[in-house]
Order: sequence, then structure tokens, then C-alpha cells
Amino acid sequence: MEGSIESRTSHEVDNWLRWLPRWHPGTHRTRARLCHQCFGSPVIAAAGLSEDVPHAVQHALAMRMKIVVDASVDEYTEQHLPRLSHELRLDDLRRARRAYRPTEGLDPEHRGLDLDPPAAPDAPYLFTLGDLAGLPESDEADEPRPLSADEKAAVLREVAVSDAYAAEAGRRLCVELAKHRARMRAAVAEFVEPQVQALLADLGSTLDSPLWPRGS
Ligand SMILES: [Zn+2]
Repeated sequence: MEGSIESRTSHEVDNWLRWLPRWHPGTHRTRARLCHQCFGSPVIAAAGLSEDVPHAVQHALAMRMKIVVDASVDEYTEQHLPRLSHELRLDDLRRARRAYRPTEGLDPEHRGLDLDPPAAPDAPYLFTLGDLAGLPESDEADEPRPLSADEKAAVLREVAVSDAYAAEAGRRLCVELAKHRARMRAAVAEFVEPQVQALLADLGSTLDSPLWPRGS
């Protein structure tokens, strides 16, 4: 494994730190469901951002770290796992034929979030971006030849190697991330916490307002 995981991690931490001052509460809508990228994530824990940090702030970092691992695994696969990279290339070609892919080309801060706002119960139903993202590929005319049992087993062996590589990449990323913990916490204290405090203070004064009936 080359030394690039550490330098890429550090580079993406820099990018996240540049993005952080632009964060505002309400820039991202709240999620209806628990985020599987962030909840219990070892990456967020390694960064020291598990507690008292808004989800959008955690999520932006988690997605940037995912880019580091994905890019590193892609490179490794390309260089060392010929059968798996062949299958992935075929898969890419199939995807490229789809007209519109709403989950692709988004900034890292927006990846992995719900595509659609929660539906209003009385809204007319047209279509959702989630529907579009889930559409199957239409072209069945040039489906590739099915793999033999031996070929399939060979691909699966390479998938296992790739998974092990990804796990090791993730471990190294977390070790590196922990080294940046102090400057990330400092940035959260500077740019995020005052806004969260202001929001809570606003909420408090609304609750204290004479327009808000209390104790009745
Ligand atoms: Zn998330």
C-alpha cells in the first residue's frame, strides 16, 4: 500500500476545513432516517466528532473520507485485480447508458443524503429523484456473456482481496485522521458551536415569549 492514504486524508481534511465556515444550520434539511454513513462511524469517532456535532458537519467529513478510501481501492483494483476491474468496467459502461443519474456528480457534502424531501401527505405524486436513481438499465440487447463457475469464483476471490485492502485503507485513514483531531475540533468550536448556541438561544426566547402560552 503506497503512502498516499495519509496524504490524501490530510488533503481532504484541509478541504473540509475550507468548507466548514460556509456551514449554517438549515443549509441541509434534517433527515427522516438515521444516516448509515455517519451513525456509529469509526471515521467520525477517529476525527473526535461523535459528540455534539451537527449531522451535516459530520456527514461532509464522512463523505470526503469515503472518497479517499474509494479512490485508493479503485487504484489498487486497477493495478492488481484484473478480473474484478474488468467486471467493474463493464458495470460502468452499463451505468453510463442511463440518461440521468441523480446520485452522481454531487459535491461530497451532499452525497449519501436522501435525494427527496419528505413527501407532504396531500401533494400530487409525479416522480421522485429516488425513483430515477433506482431505475434499472433498459438495454438488455448487449448483456455480457454470463460468467462460468470458475470465472465467478476467480472474481469473488478478487472481491475478497479488494475488501481486505479497503479495510486496511480505512484503518490507516483513521490513524491519520486522529492526528488532525485538534485542528478539526478547533474549527468546529470556532464556526459551528456559536451558531448552534445562537439557535438554542433563539429557541429559548421563543419559548419565553408572552405569545407562547405557558403552564396552561
Ligand atoms: Zn451522514
